[in-house]
Amino acid sequence: MVAPKHGPRDPVDRVGGRLGGVLSVVLAFGLAFGLAFWLACGGAWLSTAAAAPMTPPEPVAGVELQERRVWTFDAGSGIQLCIDNLFSGARLNGCEQVGPKEFRLLVAPEREPINPSPWYALRIRSSKPCEVTLRLAIATATVRPRAWASRDGRRWTMAPDSQWTGEPGDRECTIKVSVVPDPIFIASNRMIGIDELDAWSTRVAMESGVSVESIGRSTGGRPILAFTLNPQAPPDHVIVIGRQHPPEPSGSVGLMKFVERLQQSDAALAGFGKRFRVTVIPMVNPDGVHEGQWRCTLGGIDPNRDWHEFSQPETRAVRDAILALAAQPGARIHLLLDFHATDRDVLYTPAPGSAVEPAGFVQAWLDGVQARFPREKLESTASHNLDQWTFKRWAAETIKAPGITVEFGSLTPHERIAAKARVFAEVMTEVLATQVPVDVPATVP
Ligand SMILES: [Zn+2]
Repeated sequence: MVAPKHGPRDPVDRVGGRLGGVLSVVLAFGLAFGLAFWLACGGAWLSTAAAAPMTPPEPVAGVELQERRVWTFDAGSGIQLCIDNLFSGARLNGCEQVGPKEFRLLVAPEREPINPSPWYALRIRSSKPCEVTLRLAIATATVRPRAWASRDGRRWTMAPDSQWTGEPGDRECTIKVSVVPDPIFIASNRMIGIDELDAWSTRVAMESGVSVESIGRSTGGRPILAFTLNPQAPPDHVIVIGRQHPPEPSGSVGLMKFVERLQQSDAALAGFGKRFRVTVIPMVNPDGVHEGQWRCTLGGIDPNRDWHEFSQPETRAVRDAILALAAQPGARIHLLLDFHATDRDVLYTPAPGSAVEPAGFVQAWLDGVQARFPREKLESTASHNLDQWTFKRWAAETIKAPGITVEFGSLTPHERIAAKARVFAEVMTEVLATQVPVDVPATVP
């Protein structure tokens, strides 16, 4: 199957007849911080020039890309309304007016079949305040979508659960939105995009006196960034990666809080910074994040199934960077963590019988974390996706070190994710300090 790059097609035909169920969400928005965003957008609410044109990526066989554009409508009563996907992280494949103030929006994944983690993100504004109905038609959705709103793309509010009336598996939800001249972002979750993660990397690296470097480029030419904390420490490494899968911002929250905890040098982390280096690769799949893809790279491959084929430049770049670390004189890699998000908090640990070192790390770490959260049963399993070529499998089989997939719930409150991630970091430092013998270099006679 070869999909058109981004040619016009009728979004409604594609999903027509398959739609059932109606969810109603009323999103009430204040007018706070609208002016700042208005100015940031050039104040041109109905102009396609309000957002800079995006260079369309090269077509890849089998990958469905969205057409980047603004849809402008006459909403009656002298009101003009526009909906657009001209921003990084957007996913909106089509839009049509089905009533004066009612619009059907198509959201489709980059390819099918696909893991049912639907992502959508759009922006809407009108010439005068009005209430509109958005009928969001999500192809291939088997899980319940949500609606979050933001004026600045940073601070988000979820539509209250009480205002949803549909069931999981519904392919259409209806959102009632109070639209104003200031743009409102609506997305299936809080967005943490390339700019935000890159800025975070720059800040953390600067605070730590290290630099952010590119370890390679994605299919779309975007740099894959990395930095290393404690570069003066012996070459005893911990590797942290994230965002193989685009619609998993909870994983990014966990990664950031985990790394920020390791930056600190209080008593709880005494000595860790002197003994271990931490290499952080916050965004493995920047193209997928930019395109609002549900799962894949721009090449149409799930990167966390590519740790054997290495068909994608993204996985090759990360692999080569880690192997380069491992090849340094005296280097030892002790742990590789891969941050994701799913429907709950869960840890996927190395397959049973994996010959990894430190052999006792995983159990000691799980026990240590569990002891810090006595009122919650920590969920973990060693038998998830054993037949798939995931990063954690590659870590165990090639690096011979524990690889752990750290999953946070997409709807887990960020404060809870932060609290857990900090404990993950603290217990990790304790266990590694205990289980990793100090490497005394052989003296040269
Ligand atoms: Zn994932």
